[in-house]
Amino acid sequence: MQQSIPPYPNQGPHRPPRRRLTRAEMRRRRRRAVRRLAVLLGVLALAAGGTAFAVTRLTAEVPSAPAASPAPAEGEPMSAGSASSAASTPAAPRNALGLTAAEAAAILADPRMVLVNHQVPMPEDYTFDTKECGSATAINKTLQTEAADAFLEMQAAAAADGVTVWMQSGYRSVDYQTTLYNNKTQQFLDQGYDEPTARELAANIVNPPRYSEHNCGLAADLNCPEYTALETGFEETAAFDWLCQNAETYGFILRYPKGEAAEAVTEITYEPWHWRYVGAENAARINASGLIFEQYIAELEAIAAGV
Ligand SMILES: [Zn+2]
Repeated sequence: MQQSIPPYPNQGPHRPPRRRLTRAEMRRRRRRAVRRLAVLLGVLALAAGGTAFAVTRLTAEVPSAPAASPAPAEGEPMSAGSASSAASTPAAPRNALGLTAAEAAAILADPRMVLVNHQVPMPEDYTFDTKECGSATAINKTLQTEAADAFLEMQAAAAADGVTVWMQSGYRSVDYQTTLYNNKTQQFLDQGYDEPTARELAANIVNPPRYSEHNCGLAADLNCPEYTALETGFEETAAFDWLCQNAETYGFILRYPKGEAAEAVTEITYEPWHWRYVGAENAARINASGLIFEQYIAELEAIAAGV
């Protein structure tokens, strides 16, 4: 959700002016980050391949379903899927995610994988406990308890690397979302629009109640002392760099990635500050698949349905 949070003054009397990175420096940083990611993915792919090989060897005599296997390595075309493991393991599922129908159904049933967007409301019976993990300036300071614990652990790990990450806006109750939405609708009514039009225009800016991922307590808008606005400039911070490299380990994924292809799927413009908790194992699977969350859920549904 787009929110306008007034940024901290960066150039107070006791703070030296903060220099913006030059474009060349940003490019160098990005190239370094991409190289690090490529090396990491390569290591993961090797590890995954080794594990799959070991599992194949160990279960060669057992004609049952294989253990849950990780998603395909980076760069592997979706259509190719797990062709190589399928060739060596006859029982292996022939789909891009390398999951059996039962495994896909189990992941879909995981409450941390709930899909909430402006077309899919949070289920009426979706309940959870919350815990505070927001910064002093946070508007909504809580997340689902497990997500809050994961965030706090992630925050401590970032701090150990010299990077400060803050949780600025987390769980919004349905009541709070209703107020936000009604206030926005009222602004359009005041401008003379009829009610259906006012509601539609408001929905383009503030999701109606139950249609915001923040309602499920698993979405966290993150910022940092150097950049407190929830705006795309957050991607230039050390905090964002660190999150891109490490958030998956703590179960968070970048929910609304950059680029036309991603934005066509999410129908939300790039939000480098909005991270979604799904649990570490799910985050690893989703990131390895290269799919956007909506696409990943659709793929799981197809596999679970045996399509
Ligand atoms: Zn958000």
